Amino acid sequence: MPKVKNKKTVKKSETKKVLKKKTGNKKKIIKKKPAVKKTVAKKKIVKKKSKPKEILNVKKPVKIIKNFYEAIVVGGGPGGSVAAMYLARNGVDTLLVEKAKFPRDKTCGDALSGKSREVLEELQLDKKIVEVPHAITTGVLFSSPKGDSVSIPFKNDKGEIIPGFICRREILDNLIFQEAKKQVSTLEEFEVNSLMFENEKVVGIVGKYKGEERKIKAKVVIGADGVYSTVARTAGALETNPDHICGAVRAYYKNVKGVTNDIELHFVDSVIPGYFWIFPCDNGMANVGLGIIDSEIIKKKINLARLMEDVVQNHPMFKERFKDSEQVTPIKGWKLSFGSKRRKSYGDGWALVGDAAGLVDPFTGEGMGNAMYSGKVVAETIAKSKQNGWNSEIMKEYETALSNKLDAELQQSYKMQRWGKHTWLVNYIIGRASKSETVRNYIASTITTADAKQEYFNPLFYLRLLFA
Ligand SMILES: Cc1cc2nc3c(=O)[nH]c(=O)nc-3n(C[C@H](O)[C@H](O)[C@H](O)COP(=O)(O)OP(=O)(O)OC[C@H]3O[C@@H](n4cnc5c(N)ncnc54)[C@H](O)[C@@H]3O)c2cc1C
Repeated sequence: MPKVKNKKTVKKSETKKVLKKKTGNKKKIIKKKPAVKKTVAKKKIVKKKSKPKEILNVKKPVKIIKNFYEAIVVGGGPGGSVAAMYLARNGVDTLLVEKAKFPRDKTCGDALSGKSREVLEELQLDKKIVEVPHAITTGVLFSSPKGDSVSIPFKNDKGEIIPGFICRREILDNLIFQEAKKQVSTLEEFEVNSLMFENEKVVGIVGKYKGEERKIKAKVVIGADGVYSTVARTAGALETNPDHICGAVRAYYKNVKGVTNDIELHFVDSVIPGYFWIFPCDNGMANVGLGIIDSEIIKKKINLARLMEDVVQNHPMFKERFKDSEQVTPIKGWKLSFGSKRRKSYGDGWALVGDAAGLVDPFTGEGMGNAMYSGKVVAETIAKSKQNGWNSEIMKEYETALSNKLDAELQQSYKMQRWGKHTWLVNYIIGRASKSETVRNYIASTITTADAKQEYFNPLFYLRLLFA
């Protein structure tokens, strides 16, 4: 009989067991009926397999990673994830690889600048970020080695407060990476350890994925893999000059007294030419840290973690504030690649963004804004190169865009960093600002507009301070 010929016997519960393995959905399994033998036609078996997928909302098919992409982004931090999203927007077939598994922590002050927010708004992530734990800041408090302090609000030209934003990197980076994951192919736990070359042109990556070596080719490889970038090193663009690298440590604390909506930058004697910071965080926590340029660390043989403990426990301005505090994470250290000496940003078949390109502000230590900005610009330049038959000459425009937008600002900040070495000058400016509103307004304008920073290098500025 034909009916019998096409029949197949299956256990209903077994079909669901397979699904459990794929989806990890326990509830469905617990609710399942006891196994019954059921006789169904072959056609129906196919239907049974696909239907529960819809019910359990299993959307994504298993991703097959190809051996070739138009672009490969190495590193899923803010620079890499933003670059990947702009590549997707511009129709470039992209793979984003990341050695860690998200969510992962990144040692940072967690403070987002205006530049970061511009990019996040353009990617429509600004609304998502306010939904995750964060803190809003409305100004910056500076203190001098002498002990004067002044709070300067974040105001724009019209005198309106432009709030700042602090979001722990474990949360922020995960949010941005997960958005990128929706738009491009991604591989977590893929560590790139070299590049593939053909006649000195970079043509792909070599890395470890699940313990096995894997090679994937691309028209262009973007190094967004941070300060010690493997892509930069392999391409010959890594710079480690200790005058342009900064060492910094950070820990989270609870119950630090006197934390307000200000970010706090303290020019403490033992930390100069760097600073000690206390930033308000979500859930009553504070991000506490300090950073000093590497050449000074080497010269003075400074142990940053010990120095931080000393400031927190013994400095007259802070010991009371930290007396009843609880340190909730260990003191962790990492490096910042200052843009006072930018790295080569592109070459044949490769480009660098963010810390890999050395774009951190040498005075404030902010790097996320420039990482995101460079991610956006490199993606747009690659898209243009693609439209022109992968003309590599076009990548020059990436370097030009970085130079036009960032160089003046980075050099001004570098001057300010060196200015900060002079304790008497820091005492003088913060001391004057603590007494005069006119001086506070001057400083407020230098925080919000890059051009105004130039004022610090005008001798007349100091004369004006004297009489303000
Ligand atoms: C203590 C400290 C405080 C700071 N405070 C601030 C602040 O308050 N505000 C601010 O804006 N900036 C701050 N910065 C700077 C900021 O952290 C960086 O500028 C920013 O993270 C740069 O982003 P990125 O995407 O270029 O690199 P990263 O954020 O470093 O991301 C690089 C990614 O690449 C991955 N990766 C690395 N190597 C490989 C590999 N071989 N293969 C695959 N993946 C790899 C890493 O796992 C990581 O996810 C601070 C830095 C430090 C150290």
